[in-house]
Amino acid sequence: MPKRVLIRGARLVDPGAEFDGVTDVLVEDELVAAVGDGLAAPSGAEVIEGDGLVLAPGLVDLHAHFREPGFEHKETVETGSRAAAAGGYTAVCAMPNTDPVADNLSVILEVRALADKAGLCDVFPAGAITKGLAGEALAEIGEMAEAGVKLFTDDGHSVQSSRVMRLALEYGKAFDIIICQHAQDEGLTEGWQMHEGHYSAMLGLVGYPAEAEEITAAREIALARLTGGRLHLTHLSAAGSVAAVRAGKAKGVRVTADVTPHHLALLDADLVDYDTNLKMNPPLRTEEHRAALRSGLADGTIDVVATDHAPHAPEEKEVEFDQSPTGTTGLETALAVVLTELVEPGLLPLSDAVARLSTVPASILGLEEHGGPVLAGRPANLVVFDPAAAWTVGERGYQSMGRNSAFHGRALHGRVLHSLLRGTFTVRDGEPTR
Ligand SMILES: [Zn+2]
Repeated sequence: MPKRVLIRGARLVDPGAEFDGVTDVLVEDELVAAVGDGLAAPSGAEVIEGDGLVLAPGLVDLHAHFREPGFEHKETVETGSRAAAAGGYTAVCAMPNTDPVADNLSVILEVRALADKAGLCDVFPAGAITKGLAGEALAEIGEMAEAGVKLFTDDGHSVQSSRVMRLALEYGKAFDIIICQHAQDEGLTEGWQMHEGHYSAMLGLVGYPAEAEEITAAREIALARLTGGRLHLTHLSAAGSVAAVRAGKAKGVRVTADVTPHHLALLDADLVDYDTNLKMNPPLRTEEHRAALRSGLADGTIDVVATDHAPHAPEEKEVEFDQSPTGTTGLETALAVVLTELVEPGLLPLSDAVARLSTVPASILGLEEHGGPVLAGRPANLVVFDPAAAWTVGERGYQSMGRNSAFHGRALHGRVLHSLLRGTFTVRDGEPTR
């Protein structure tokens, strides 16, 4: 007998089908079997009463660090996948700055095998742009692209050479892949600890000016125009970068961009307590920059919310601020941060939030099975969440091995209740199923 789940009377928010309304969804084995009002529960079906809940396509993260191979004391593909499922994700693009670096097909295949074994979330490993992330010789991009790798990045580093970026974008155009840049002019950020401005002067910490990102973002957009390649600028933090993306898009340049929940929610002023969980690259910036990121997300200049989930071992973060590695976890809090900071105050409609967290990143990566539309015959990759449920970050621990959440102890609204990967619960009633 097929395995059936009926989700009854939830608000289905499905940007891919331009649908937003209360209806029923029947899942049968791996697929959505029916969508419509007043669906009867077939015998043996599990029924989820969706009154007050939101049903959406499973979330898709363009940017997460799963740390394996090489840094299993921070996170593994299995624990990262579990954190993703807990956050409502059914697909994640894993960053290549592992050890060894994913600059060749064998590391890509290893990460895919680990993800298949965990079976909690579809993992799409990204490849490196350059060998060893050294910024010089191109990685084995063709071999990885032919094996289905869609996104290439040296994230953790920023490719400094315009010549190398031009070559990468030309390759990218030939293979129809995305060249993703962490934009940072390293000549302007030596010894940095936080955003350069009033608070860095007050706290006596070395600054990382917004211009370090803006200069590189503008350069890459110019190179994307020159080459016709597809560029993605990840974790934008600066107003000038948003303006450059907006202008680039207006001229028809093939550029997309993402922003993290922490850059949308937090400020450099929050660093006055020297909390190492707030130390990230790029750094948290000022109200002016945050406002530009929020309006860029709202008007579609910024296409995607991506987590930059960056787990570290507790002992690595429990050090003096200047000794701390950069990064915050993000997979378990992204949806709630977007709901609390943007949707509730009326800055972003819920359907746009789902689009930026699921539909659009799935389409950028060309993931046919993710991001909706939620229609009969489609794979049942779904999330059910309670948009009003209040919780405190960390109160029940974390599924990630990383405890370094920038939102630890904060009150948020929006709780993931169920995640389904091809019709199988990976999270049920807020708890991972395995
Ligand atoms: Zn980065």
